[in-house]
Amino acid sequence: EVTAMSELGLIGLAVMGQNFALNVAEKGFPISVYNRSYEKTEACVTRAKKEGLEANLKGFPDLKEFVASLKKPRRVMILVKAGAPVDATIESLIPLLEPGDIIIDGGNEWYENTEARAAKVAEKGLGYLGMGVSGGEEGARNGPSLMPGGTKEGYDAIEKIVTKVAAQVDDGPCVTYHVRVCPGGAGNFVKMVHNGIEYGDMQLISEAYDVLKTVGGLTNDELVEAFNEWNKSELDSFLIEITALILAKKDEDGAPLADKILDKTGMKGTGKWTVQQAAELSVPAPTIEAALDGRFLSGLKDERVAAAKTFSDLGLKQPTKIEGIDKAALVKEVKQALYASKICSYAQGLNIIKAKSAEKGWDVDMGALSRIWKGGCIIRAVFLTDIYEAYKRNPALENLLVDPDFAKKLVSSEQAWRSVVTKAISNGVAVPGFSASLGYFDTYRRETVPANLVQARSLPTAAQRDFFGSHTYERIDKPGWFHTVWDPRN
Ligand code: NAP
Repeated sequence: EVTAMSELGLIGLAVMGQNFALNVAEKGFPISVYNRSYEKTEACVTRAKKEGLEANLKGFPDLKEFVASLKKPRRVMILVKAGAPVDATIESLIPLLEPGDIIIDGGNEWYENTEARAAKVAEKGLGYLGMGVSGGEEGARNGPSLMPGGTKEGYDAIEKIVTKVAAQVDDGPCVTYHVRVCPGGAGNFVKMVHNGIEYGDMQLISEAYDVLKTVGGLTNDELVEAFNEWNKSELDSFLIEITALILAKKDEDGAPLADKILDKTGMKGTGKWTVQQAAELSVPAPTIEAALDGRFLSGLKDERVAAAKTFSDLGLKQPTKIEGIDKAALVKEVKQALYASKICSYAQGLNIIKAKSAEKGWDVDMGALSRIWKGGCIIRAVFLTDIYEAYKRNPALENLLVDPDFAKKLVSSEQAWRSVVTKAISNGVAVPGFSASLGYFDTYRRETVPANLVQARSLPTAAQRDFFGSHTYERIDKPGWFHTVWDPRN
């Protein structure tokens, strides 16, 4: 007979699950663990023993016994591969649970799947939360950023646990009530955009690296120094810190290991979903889109190698460094270009969340959201404190770019930003993230854009649409909608 003593049950003991389970046990909450294949359960129990946590962590080969070991109302968290495996896990759990029990999916799930599952299990009287977990392996073990979405009762049932296991920053745990005041998928959605922003950050950092290395001719040691310096500035963040560590890592032969890594990036889908959602919501997100396209282009390794030959045969050489360039000055300029582009990227991501929140009535609190990203997650950065302050100054802020502090920062970076983009482009080094960000900034701050022509259709924008589709247009000198016969032949 199994005693119901665990505060939490966790199913799925791959990288995230094992580490999260150990974290929960360490914080003093008895936890039961289960995995489809038993080896991972054994591995988790062995790790718990090694860390002296075995009193708080029990592994079960049998799902029924696992469920029987949970205190009521039972809280079962799932950390398996998103999609069908989550459905399979829920199906196997339903006959074993009772009304009032709660299922928490901690995976990178598509928010609509979460909403459908929440509705389905609600018929059986079960609660459901979709809770984004960020921070990878290290975050799961020592304190992740947690983004729960679901009912208030569901959150209340796990609050005492999640506020302890989440990363702790100066103003509290990296988990909040505000991102989940709905029976919906807000937590998953917010985590998805977090990953989209992460794509943007990584693209921008890789461009900074490319400009310094290819255009500036910085050595590996000089690159490490630059990133370490930046990490002591307003760019202070997890991703800048690990970039310095990655660049400093030497292979067995003493050569930089980063130079030996194939230039092809993988992806699991959250970046693509973010871009699709931006389009669905009509929210411009060119920096994040450039990051996604950057991954697609990186995947075309064989085609790129062939194209390099096609064009070099025609006399177009691969980019090389600008002779005599002032390296120290370039490092300073690139830092500013990176910072300004990063502001644009976050502005886009946050606006996607804001638009979705308005559409779904989620009431996501942007300030609270920036706060829970300050620790535990991959995009954690000193910069998020500034974003938090910006939304505190104005909770209805339309765009981060026009917050008074960020606006000043953009103005002071603007010349360096243009200079970096110009140098890179004129030397044949693509900087799609930097230039898309600059384009976003320059368009957003412009009183008039050439959309007058698009609307008239077949001339550049408003006019073009009227020309070929009689879509009508508005005038700047009088109210109303107008149509013109543009073609003198008609
Ligand atoms: P994962 O590689 O995404 O998934 C492996 C786990 O899923 C194993 O426990 C596996 O069980 C289980 N599984 C697969 N198919 C199953 C099925 N049909 N039925 C039951 N179980 C099944 O694991 P992960 O990297 O730890 O990630 C877990 C979740 O967290 C994912 O949604 C992931 O996107 C998200 N996440 C991951 C990270 C990260 O850094 N890895 C960070 C944040 C969020 P078996 O052992 O039996 O195969």
